[in-house]
Formats: sequence, C-alpha cells, structure tokens
Amino acid sequence: MKQLPPDTVRLLSSSQVITSVVNVVKELLENSLDAGATSIDVKLENYGLERIEVRDNGHGIKAADTPVMAVRHFTSKICTHDDLEHLETYGFRGEALGSVCAVAEVTVITKTEEDDVSTQYTLNFTGGIVSKKPSHLGQGTTVSVLKLFKNLPVRRQYYSSTKKCKEELKKVQDLLLAYAIIKPELRLTLVHNKVVLWQKAKVPDHRSALVATLGPGVVVNLLPCHHRQEQPEIFLEGFFPKPGADYSSTSSSNPDKTFIFVNNRPVHHKDIMKLLRQHYTAQYPDDGSRSRYPVLMLSLTVSPSSVDVNLTPDKTQVLLHDKEAVLIALEAFLVSLYGFRPTDDPPALRP
Ligand code: ADP
Ligand code: MG
Repeated sequence: MKQLPPDTVRLLSSSQVITSVVNVVKELLENSLDAGATSIDVKLENYGLERIEVRDNGHGIKAADTPVMAVRHFTSKICTHDDLEHLETYGFRGEALGSVCAVAEVTVITKTEEDDVSTQYTLNFTGGIVSKKPSHLGQGTTVSVLKLFKNLPVRRQYYSSTKKCKEELKKVQDLLLAYAIIKPELRLTLVHNKVVLWQKAKVPDHRSALVATLGPGVVVNLLPCHHRQEQPEIFLEGFFPKPGADYSSTSSSNPDKTFIFVNNRPVHHKDIMKLLRQHYTAQYPDDGSRSRYPVLMLSLTVSPSSVDVNLTPDKTQVLLHDKEAVLIALEAFLVSLYGFRPTDDPPALRP
C-alpha cells in the first residue's frame, strides 16, 4: 500500500467540495453576503465553464489575510467548533476558495476601506499567491474562476451537451432567486455571455422581493403569515398561497418555486416539503395537484445551536435538532391558515 501524493489528495477532496458551476456560484455568492455586500454581480461565460465571476461591494479582504485567503481550512468566520453554536455566516469551513483553486484558475481582486487601491491576486493550485498587481476596482471583492474542471476531464465532459449547460444555467438562476427573496436589500444581477439574464434591485421587504422575482401575478395570490413559538423558540414566516388561491399561479410542476429557508439559508427539507404539499394540495382534491408543488416562501428561524448545517459540503441539507417541534409548529400554522387538517395520503415525493 502507498500513501497518495498530496496533489492527488487535494484534487480528490476539492472535487468533492466543488461539484458544479452552480456550486461555485453559491460559494462565491455566500462569501460576498458574509462580507456584508449589498450589491453582487454574477457573470458567466460559456455557461460558467470559461469564466465565473462574482463581484461584490463587501468589506474586502485585509492585505494581511490575503496570503491565506485560499489556503484550505483558513477562515475568518469561526475559531473553534463551538462557534457553530452561534453561527451567523453562510461559510465557516474555509474550504471553498482553496478547493476552487485546485480545479480551476482563480484570481481575486479586493479592496478594503483602508486600502488606497485594489489589488489583483493570481492564485495557484494550492491556493497560494503567485503574483499580485494593483487594480482599478472600488471597495469589495471580485473572484474570477476560469476554466472550471480543466483537470477533471470527466466532469468537464459532463457539460459537453448544450442541454446540460442550459439546465445548469437554470439552476444558477433558481439559486439567485432564492437569495434575492431572502435578502430583499440585496441588488443582484446575472449576466451570461454579456447578456443580462436577470436582475433585481434593492427592495424594502420580502413582499417586494417576491414581486421582483416571481412577478405580481403570483404574489397577489400569496398571503403574508408569521407565527412565533417559545420553547423551543421557533419563528415561522413567509408567503403562502391564499386559501383557495388561483391554482395555476400558485403551483408548479417542479419543487424549485417552493422556497424553504432555515436561518436565511436556502435548504431542501423532505419532511417540511411533504407537510407543505399535503396542506396545499388538500385544497384541490380533484385536479392532479398531487404531482404539483406549491409556490411559496417559508422562512424558519431557530437557534443556531439547534441546526447542523454541516451535513453536506453544499450545506443545502440541514439537521434540525427539534425537528418534531418544528413540524408540529408548522402543522399548527398550516391548519390555522387553511382551516383543516388533510386526511389524504401524502402526495408522492419526487426522488
Ligand atoms: P469560508 O467562507 O468558509 O470562510 P472560503 O474558502 O469560502 O471559506 O473563504 C475563505 C476566506 O476568504 C473567508 O473566511 C473570508 O475571510 C475571505 N473571503 C472570501 N471571499 C470573500 C469576499 N467576497 N469578501 C471578503 N472576504 C472574502
Ligand atoms: Mg465561503
């Protein structure tokens, strides 16, 4: 038996953290949000395979931190595992930038309030700085990822069909929609091959964010709701289809318009989704609603110490310590909204 060479180990583990174009966009976007950005521009070239660029107006990276910004397991967000109990940032593992460096060519341009000018850093395979030069951008950070998966031919090959590329672009759009909804104050744009595909201005509240993302025709059929519970402390808020709302505008054949957030993080949660569907579809017993998903936004706030977001590298799965209490609270909330408890079998969930 032989120990694998360090570069092979790095490539293997990085390619588990960085799995797709949408995954890179998510990591960079979350870094921008963690830096307090209120304006983020996402630019893709050739569906992100040639270039993914995320530019923000956040606090930037201090010059002293730049040598380790992309070294794996270096983070400015937590110091020990105990800090996860109070986690308020999207990131905490210090893995994303370093992992992207192992599977693509990365440059970072950054400027803090204290810096006179921005600096552009070119990074190498291990996340170290190979060169730096002054640049002309304002405060914030721009990360550019070129030639994603250049050293992973099978993964690169996966994107050789236009169909797959278009699916990936749709995933990027859906991802941005989710953050646009949960962060009304954020200005966000998506540009592909120099064409603006989508943009959202800064708006005052979730309702305006939903109008900006889903359109007024959908939002008119959604009802703002909230519910607070003590012990365990759970705060539920969101926009749900009004009882008996127009079915065509408040349901979708895909789950991508059922926006579920836990502590501001877009997540997939099978049990929460099942409950939401049960209550929504029970209102439309005879019209094929069992294969459809409600268009809604549910934002759940619980104590950071009662959520484990470290289940998967992309943090879209969460383990709720008080899952039963959350489901009971949500069920009570849905019963009070829709006025009855569905007795139906749950609709079959998609794989
Ligand atoms: P994590 O987000 O888990 O800390 P990353 O590898 O994504 O790990 O980022 C490493 C570090 O680089 C962050 O902790 C942060 O200090 C810095 N950083 C990355 N992106 C940005 C950004 N857009 N603005 C400011 N700092 C950033
Ligand atoms: Mg990060």
